[in-house]
Amino acid sequence: MRIVLADLKGRKGFVSKDTVAGGYGSRFKPFSKTTAWVHLFKRQYHDTPSVHLAYIAAIFAQSGHDVVFTAGGLVDGDLAIVLSSLVDYRHETEWADAMRTRGVRVGFAGLATSKMPHLFADHADFILDGEPEAAIGRLARGERLDGICKSEAIMDLDSLPFPRWDLITKARPLGIQLSTRPVGGGFPLLASRGCPEFCTYCPHRILAGYRARSVRNVVDEIEQMCQRARRPYIIFRDSLFSENRERIVELCDQIRARGLSVSFECETRLDRVDGELLRLMQAAGLRTMSFGVESVSPEVLKRVGRRPIPPNHQRQVIEHCRELRIVTSAFFVLGFPTDDWQSIAATIDFATDLSPTFAQFKLLTPYPGTPLWKQMEPLVFEKDWEKFDGFTPTFEHPNLTSRELMFLLGAAYTHFYMRPSYLANMFRLHNTVVRGWVDRMDRRVSARITRRETEIMGPVTC
Ligand code: SF4
Repeated sequence: MRIVLADLKGRKGFVSKDTVAGGYGSRFKPFSKTTAWVHLFKRQYHDTPSVHLAYIAAIFAQSGHDVVFTAGGLVDGDLAIVLSSLVDYRHETEWADAMRTRGVRVGFAGLATSKMPHLFADHADFILDGEPEAAIGRLARGERLDGICKSEAIMDLDSLPFPRWDLITKARPLGIQLSTRPVGGGFPLLASRGCPEFCTYCPHRILAGYRARSVRNVVDEIEQMCQRARRPYIIFRDSLFSENRERIVELCDQIRARGLSVSFECETRLDRVDGELLRLMQAAGLRTMSFGVESVSPEVLKRVGRRPIPPNHQRQVIEHCRELRIVTSAFFVLGFPTDDWQSIAATIDFATDLSPTFAQFKLLTPYPGTPLWKQMEPLVFEKDWEKFDGFTPTFEHPNLTSRELMFLLGAAYTHFYMRPSYLANMFRLHNTVVRGWVDRMDRRVSARITRRETEIMGPVTC
């Protein structure tokens, strides 16, 4: 069979799908001068190919099928699989309709189709419910799928073939440009799936529980990447990369023992790293680490099932990263149910005080399938599912209006990215004399921003 795999380029704003928000995806649209700059940056560096489609490509290819990729064009084939999202589902269903008109059978895969099948059902011959690989294996072996098809999570992740990047990147302008992060691109890699934590708002835990591949299997995949690209840049898309410290130590040891020359980035919790582990990871190729801080308030975090991490530990880890020249990227969430103006202002203040290299601020979004959704459903006013994009108010917040939430979101980006410290971190200017001057400039800039904000909305104490 000729199989068309579609990871459609999102419309309006910068759309991320695949592993972002568990697969629901996000859409970042600029709403201020600062966010326009952040938007430009994201477009340049965050447009990564889909690891889920690369797995699907590998399974079809293993059974001898012909696989073609599209990011938007209509392509002839016997069967098309569309990577679904919530934030761009209308575009995806329109594309599916056009393909079906050409006589191609169309199936959808991903978290959005699993939890919101009614959005896709009229536009598909079949939709996959669950992690897609098990059902894709059945399709590849010749089974015909119709309607909603359960796809059980694969427990032994080592049994999967390695992702076939060569099959899903042909439509990109340069064969080697798999990602726009570093020059030359990057390869997303899933060393584990799911997350063992219990944050009630998190969509990464919806489809299946936590499972990890063996270290040997992961390093075999990295070795294969090294045979195909010189010094590949690997983007570990695990939700909690360093969940098991010994496993990561072994992974780093094996990368070095096999003489694999790679750079990589990962996402984790800061209580799952320490100075010694960071040194090992850096020696094996770690260049960027992302982590959730979410809120400065332990009370706010505990109410959504998230275990708080002591601020001093967070500061120490970021300081270690600075010493090791590891770029840090922190995630913050504004608008938790018990947040108010003061707690969000304190979180913004904490973000600038921690001073990671980059920060991403999002609004709390109750995603279908999460425990938070059950709790917040009566308060959800947004009817357009594409607005569940991580940056749009979707429910009646007990303490803040939507206008106030958007104002605070904008203030977070302005306070963080307008600081001279941000540029100093970017250019790794950490010498004490420079830092002293930069800190003084930070205070002046912050005071000016605060004066302007006070004129608009009253005091934002950041
Ligand atoms: S630690 Fe991160 S990935 Fe894990 S449940 Fe919490 S928010 Fe989700």
